Amino acid sequence: MTPRTAIVGAGPGGLTCARILQRQGFPVTVLDRDPAPDARPQGGTLDMHADSGQLALQAAGLLEAFLDLSRPEGQEMRLYDHTGGLLHQHAPPPGESFNPEIDRGQLRALLLDSLTPGTVQWGRNLTTLTPLGDGVHRAHFEDGSTADYDLVIGADGAWSRVRRLLSDAVPVYTGVTFVEISLNNPGTEISELVGEGTMMAPYDNKALIAQRNSGNRVLVYAALRVPQDWNRGPVSMRDELLERFADWSPRLLSLIAKHDGDFVNRPLFALPVPHKWDHTPGVTLLGDAAHLMSPFSGMGANLAMLDAADLANSIITEPTIDAAVQAYETVMIPRGAEAAHGADEGLNTAISPSTDQALAHLTKHL
Ligand SMILES: Cc1cc2nc3c(=O)[nH]c(=O)nc-3n(C[C@H](O)[C@H](O)[C@H](O)COP(=O)(O)OP(=O)(O)OC[C@H]3O[C@@H](n4cnc5c(N)ncnc54)[C@H](O)[C@@H]3O)c2cc1C
Repeated sequence: MTPRTAIVGAGPGGLTCARILQRQGFPVTVLDRDPAPDARPQGGTLDMHADSGQLALQAAGLLEAFLDLSRPEGQEMRLYDHTGGLLHQHAPPPGESFNPEIDRGQLRALLLDSLTPGTVQWGRNLTTLTPLGDGVHRAHFEDGSTADYDLVIGADGAWSRVRRLLSDAVPVYTGVTFVEISLNNPGTEISELVGEGTMMAPYDNKALIAQRNSGNRVLVYAALRVPQDWNRGPVSMRDELLERFADWSPRLLSLIAKHDGDFVNRPLFALPVPHKWDHTPGVTLLGDAAHLMSPFSGMGANLAMLDAADLANSIITEPTIDAAVQAYETVMIPRGAEAAHGADEGLNTAISPSTDQALAHLTKHL
């Protein structure tokens, strides 16, 4: 009998897994709590690495379509000090395609469009899973409906409900919050500052990070160490940020000052490292659900997609579902832990009271 397989979560990880399975003729359903694919803005830009995200796209038969959409010029990196002095610049040589950028929304659309229509069921908010024995689980949804599966793949991100069946781990606030600022048509001054890719300026436990997205849009992240329940009282976020970054150059501050829209607070969370669990027949995790880490790894979506490809390939090649899941977890859990260690180190070095240390670290990694 063909196993009834559900992937919970239509993010980059879940969709990649579904695509690879489906391409090999393996039936799969994706369940996502969002009411529709366009229910939420999909966020900023991602770089897809040749040794992870791009390998997964290749297994999905989507590498060429990705390369057509991606922005190789987005690999440009710039490092500034807080006075606005350019310290380091890496411009990708022509033909370089190690980690081209793509908007998260474009990547999601590419993956979604590759699936047989109806594969993703929207508006399916998983609340709990109950074991029925022999690796079979009953999924309970917010609307009161249930469904039974032989394999449930938790690709449901940071606050995974599937994870609760496997471990008690919960994401912990890293101490760093990103305030996200979206600049549409940012003008010449900001375009010249940011360039074609990513710029970073670390100083005194803070950083300004800006990334060019497609469609003449720049996403800015003001990174700072504040309590998780940071309460700004009646002061506007723009005024608060301008005060906290007061000794930075006006050129850099234009990234904050030019904005008259919403400032989105994004406290960064991470799972304890290593996050592991006792193998449980019929359920596993991938991506952020398995190893949520701060974006300072630069790997989150890449790892989610590599996990997805490994799991799908294992399901296709191993004799049983259980053997497939065990083989996958043996590789994925230590790999996720190693990247998560790197993310912790990256965050603590980049957002550090020692600006020299932050600059030295970032220069090495740009
Ligand atoms: C500011 C920022 C910048 C980043 N930059 C990068 C970068 O440059 N490169 C990179 O590789 N990574 C980056 N990341 C990390 C990356 O976005 C994540 O690691 C990646 O999205 C994880 O993919 P995923 O498929 O595991 O989960 P997600 O993308 O979180 O998808 C989870 C899906 O599950 C669904 N879901 C959740 N709960 C339920 C439920 N109960 N029932 C049904 N569905 C559910 C959600 O609706 C969602 O669609 C960044 C993250 C942040 C915050």
